[in-house]
Amino acid sequence: MSSQMLYEGKAKKIFKTEDPSTLLVRYKDDATAFNGKKKAVIPGKGRLNNLISSKLFDVLNRKGINNHFVKRLSDNEQLVKAVEIIPLEVVVRNIAAGSLSRRLGIEEGTPLKRSIIEFYFKDDALGDPMINDDHIRMMDIADDSDLVQIRQTAQDVNRVLKEIFDGIGVLLVDFKLEFGKLKSNGGIVLADEISPDTCRLWDKATHEKLDKDVFRQDIGDLPQVYEKLLERLEDAQ
Ligand code: 5GP
Repeated sequence: MSSQMLYEGKAKKIFKTEDPSTLLVRYKDDATAFNGKKKAVIPGKGRLNNLISSKLFDVLNRKGINNHFVKRLSDNEQLVKAVEIIPLEVVVRNIAAGSLSRRLGIEEGTPLKRSIIEFYFKDDALGDPMINDDHIRMMDIADDSDLVQIRQTAQDVNRVLKEIFDGIGVLLVDFKLEFGKLKSNGGIVLADEISPDTCRLWDKATHEKLDKDVFRQDIGDLPQVYEKLLERLEDAQ
């Protein structure tokens, strides 16, 4: 496998492979929060997110939700289809928490009558500002049909993930998705990662946090929490 690095992000490195239509993703042990203001190296985190993300992408592929995941290669690495990432963070919420609670004064833990989709412009220098469909079209980030597909896929992912987590006694509070355009044919697919770094997950019975909030808020041992989640997920179909 060739090893020319194309890109290094906060949590992953992306390498070329011999096949231009596929890339290798290596998950790092680095943890960041608050737009990079809080940082740590947490041994084992890369492996856990790679295993959890591989599992979830695999289930989504099997349920007909196309995504960039091809296969897991090792503890820390997975093979994905090459895409150009659309600079949007697509957040789906089922229960109030985080920035929604802060912005609208809705108490954390309040179930939302309907799930909500929010868009943020993926730009570290600007602090990932929230934007709407009009901004997205004005900035040529995506067109009308792209947005229809992104919203529909986000809802489909929510339905499938809620079912998986419900089956293992976990509430899917909210999560962030990213989409990309396939280098091969320009089609839009789900990309990036789905892991406890990008989701809020609470134990259904105790509301114990099983996600990156344990790092953001210094309220638990991240590898232990992620390992427990992985064990529970191994029982999921
Ligand atoms: P909030 O807007 O409440 O901070 O985040 C909503 C959800 O999206 C949470 O599950 C959070 O983990 C995820 N999320 C939002 N922005 C980011 C980001 O820049 N990086 C990661 N890893 N997750 C994010």
